[in-house]
Amino acid sequence: MSERADAIVVGGGILGASTALHLKLQGVERVVLLERDGLAQGTTAAGGGLVGMASPLLGWGPEEDAIERYGFGFYAELADRGHEFGWRQTGMLLAATADAPPEVLPQALLDAERVPEARRVDAAEAQELAGIFDVDAMAGGIYVASGGRLRAQEAALALARRFTELGGVVDERRPVTGLLRDGDSVVGVETPRGRVHAESVVLAAGPWTNELLAHVGFRAPMVVLIATRVLTEPLGVPPTLPALMLFEFDYLWAREEGGGLLFGSNYECTPRYAFVDEPTPPRFSELPINGVLQTQVVGKAAARAIPALGRYETATVAHGGPAYTADTRGMVGAIPGVEGLFMVGGCNECGVTHGPGFGRLVAELVTTGRGGVADAAPFDPGRFGDRYPDGASIASARSVAEDHAVSG
Ligand SMILES: Cc1cc2nc3c(=O)[nH]c(=O)nc-3n(C[C@H](O)[C@H](O)[C@H](O)COP(=O)(O)OP(=O)(O)OC[C@H]3O[C@@H](n4cnc5c(N)ncnc54)[C@H](O)[C@@H]3O)c2cc1C
Repeated sequence: MSERADAIVVGGGILGASTALHLKLQGVERVVLLERDGLAQGTTAAGGGLVGMASPLLGWGPEEDAIERYGFGFYAELADRGHEFGWRQTGMLLAATADAPPEVLPQALLDAERVPEARRVDAAEAQELAGIFDVDAMAGGIYVASGGRLRAQEAALALARRFTELGGVVDERRPVTGLLRDGDSVVGVETPRGRVHAESVVLAAGPWTNELLAHVGFRAPMVVLIATRVLTEPLGVPPTLPALMLFEFDYLWAREEGGGLLFGSNYECTPRYAFVDEPTPPRFSELPINGVLQTQVVGKAAARAIPALGRYETATVAHGGPAYTADTRGMVGAIPGVEGLFMVGGCNECGVTHGPGFGRLVAELVTTGRGGVADAAPFDPGRFGDRYPDGASIASARSVAEDHAVSG
């Protein structure tokens, strides 16, 4: 059996669903989204769902500013169309306790030209916004009125629904097992249920993208690191809670979910680095719990700021494998030397925030060869040449780049 499309997207996480939708929005007629499992069951299923102005925090440029702002409007419009995915424009709050050094609140966020909607808040106002602090422990924070929170898995499903409403085709439980070549061009994909031919193929397979790129002899310099989230039982957390970050506690982040707290933090123990230079397993369901325990330790330490983190009794957990790059910027664009093949990935744990904009950017590159939402050059998958030959070298370059950005 052989099928034909104008464009194929491989991978139905938030980046693939967004790419497929944006290809339709840009007028591509026959777009097929192929997903190995069910939609949004990979890293997206574990996504925290904070959507905010991450760009100034991580030292990124006007390109990410534009991509993030596009995403805020995009999610709001999708929700206005009646899609339910827990979207709320709560804004983002970076808070600090009275014991934290002042530099824990990145000044870059207070650049009035770049982020006019950001302002300093004192402890009382931080508590008014969040409603979950021990106000006596707090110094205050920076509140950014844009952005908000959503449920990442439901958001990806909503994007896919909008894609099919526009005539796109979703084919689940259909893994791509090979890429069809004609000389230097990719002209389709191989699957166990037959070939699909197309002029353009976009790989959006998240932590599994490099397995597919191996078919054309290219390796995108990305490293897969495990990230973990914990969700408590209902604790009376208000749904208006802004997307919350307390950098002094290992970059703790949190949002409300079902009246409980959905939270995570950085951790350096296993399973964080389990797949740095190992193949990524197809599922993340059976990983060591050390990272979960460490996240809970961080949560307990933060309980002096957020008492609810000290009194929950049950928790569920989810793991994902964001793909990180050496300069912490995404990988969106054409694969060097291979006509017709593109990728969208290197999410750096911001794929929900950047999903709409990255999907639009790669769709623009497919249809016009140029970025419209933002300049595509900083995201070129070929930008590193062969500078980072393995996962370990990317992981160490990335942590230096991130530390430098956050400390200004
Ligand atoms: C704990 C945690 C918290 C996070 N918090 C946030 C946050 O607050 N804000 C934010 O912006 N981001 C956050 N992220 C990051 C965000 O979740 C990811 O950036 C995003 O989900 C990545 O989406 P993706 O589409 O690239 O990958 P995935 O969701 O993994 O999708 C890839 C898809 O490709 C499919 N696939 C793989 N191989 C094949 C094949 N051969 N054929 C067909 N299909 C294939 C997979 O089955 C999968 O569905 C968080 C991530 C984690 C883990």
